[in-house]
Amino acid sequence: MVYSQDPQNQVDAVVLGAGFSGLYMLYRLREAGFSTRVFEAADGVGGVWYWNRYPGARCDSESVYYNYTFSEELFKEWSWSSRYPEQPEILRYLNYVADKFELKPDITFNTRVTSAVYDEAANRWQVKTDTGETVSAKYFITGVGCISSANVPNIPGLNDFEGQAYHTGHWPHEKVDFTGKRVGVIGTGSSGIQSIPVIAKEAAHLTVFQRTPQYSVPAQNHTYTKEFVEEVKNKYSEIRRQMKETVAGLRFEFGEQSVLDDPPEVRRQKLQEGWEKGGWEILFTYNDLLANEEGNELVAEFIREKIQEIVDDPETAKKLTPDHFYGTKRAIVDTDYFETYNRDNVRLVDVKASPIEAITPKGIRTTDNEYGLDALVFATGFDGMTGSLFKIDIRGKDGVSLKEKWENGAKTRTYLGLTTAGFPNMFMLTGPESPSVLGNMPATIEQHVEWVSDCINHLRDNQVDVMEAESQAEEEWSAHCKELADATLYTKTDSWYTGANISGKARGFPIYVGGYGAYREICDDVAVNGYKGFSFKQV
Ligand code: NAP
Repeated sequence: MVYSQDPQNQVDAVVLGAGFSGLYMLYRLREAGFSTRVFEAADGVGGVWYWNRYPGARCDSESVYYNYTFSEELFKEWSWSSRYPEQPEILRYLNYVADKFELKPDITFNTRVTSAVYDEAANRWQVKTDTGETVSAKYFITGVGCISSANVPNIPGLNDFEGQAYHTGHWPHEKVDFTGKRVGVIGTGSSGIQSIPVIAKEAAHLTVFQRTPQYSVPAQNHTYTKEFVEEVKNKYSEIRRQMKETVAGLRFEFGEQSVLDDPPEVRRQKLQEGWEKGGWEILFTYNDLLANEEGNELVAEFIREKIQEIVDDPETAKKLTPDHFYGTKRAIVDTDYFETYNRDNVRLVDVKASPIEAITPKGIRTTDNEYGLDALVFATGFDGMTGSLFKIDIRGKDGVSLKEKWENGAKTRTYLGLTTAGFPNMFMLTGPESPSVLGNMPATIEQHVEWVSDCINHLRDNQVDVMEAESQAEEEWSAHCKELADATLYTKTDSWYTGANISGKARGFPIYVGGYGAYREICDDVAVNGYKGFSFKQV
């Protein structure tokens, strides 16, 4: 179905973004008979998987969980090639979904929404785009992603560099050939750690500019056999259940014991098994890794020892050894990351010890050296959680902007991470104060999309025109999120979760840490109890 060409340009819903969230939201709304427009800045579907085309980009959730489960037919039609497939395969999957359900005709590509303003008299959202279009919608739904607003640090001389510069989150579509080049990579988060081993194999020389060393655990990636893929398809119901009920929408629950319960040799054996299985096994081995300083230190020390064992040069190994709490920055899984520093053509520069002073026409100057480079890769991350929302001028009742209400990010206030008071009929898919990034994104996206579409159906069935979060419910939800987060170690580490990566950004932890399964129950309970915490208006 193509959206209705209403002369007033009116639709039931406008959805922002054609990634995992926006595609499924469109599907659900259309199935329920709501006219829907999706706006997407890119010229194709995929969201982060459209933009993040850097070498080595792949998911860090196991692929069999990194997909939709709303359609059993879709789940059984698609076969993943490996445990952690690369970006092109994930983008192919999202295109397959969009084509299978004929979603693309309802998506307006190459179009960025610049503002969305709530018109209280009409009870509608007026949505404007950078192509000059204005659309009036009853419901305004954001699916803009939590980590989609690229952060390029404001280093002096940024524009003086004469070589090629790239950000991992805005990688060119055509292959970037580093053959014979001296390449510099700034940043050692997930994007840096995935790309560094691949770039090192191609470049003549690679210099890694590291500010904070990271824990990383082998992905133990491997291709799937035909038999395994068939087995997975037969486990559709079980996988869907796990994605709905577990703490992170994966096959894991946290272990039953405290890190401190195990004697050293048992703990070591369990961690060794986790290391060999790879991925996030270690993170979920114990029940208090993210809350117990002493226990976290024991696990962190295990990984530090691995780094010392893998990296040949003791000085480099020392520089690569982190000292923050393990898991409080997004836990990273890699393929040959630490091994890469044993290559002759790779050098590590500690820019905490010798900060970057400037980017020069020929490379990077730190306080103690100058590094000649032909190409520069910014693996410097994103303005997470609020960055993409704040790029749009979103205004609710009385013309108050979301940015003002949330005090420029210093005080996000939401009800359930889905809605915010003063912004009626607006929903944020994987918004701040939902569990979103603390697990497997497709699982949390499906839950949000299903809750929102059920909610909108409920409003229609009950002839309700306007729904708005109550301030009291919102205060309580935000306080609950803060209380849970403050009881963990997450808030003690500088990370993009806490906003510490963006200069001038207020520190917070706008993510619900109680787990996907528990969060789903809370949301379901709100719905079953007549959407408690919301006010309703019939016009
Ligand atoms: P990130 O985790 O924020 O890492 C950015 C890196 O750049 C950090 O090492 C940071 O150092 C460094 N940096 C930032 N500004 C700098 C500056 N001015 N000078 C020197 N270094 C600077 O970003 P990311 O690696 O893009 O990952 C972001 C998130 O995206 C991940 O945590 C993950 O959730 C998601 N992601 C997932 C995958 C996947 O496996 N599916 C892949 C990529 C990304 P500091 O640590 O000191 O701030």
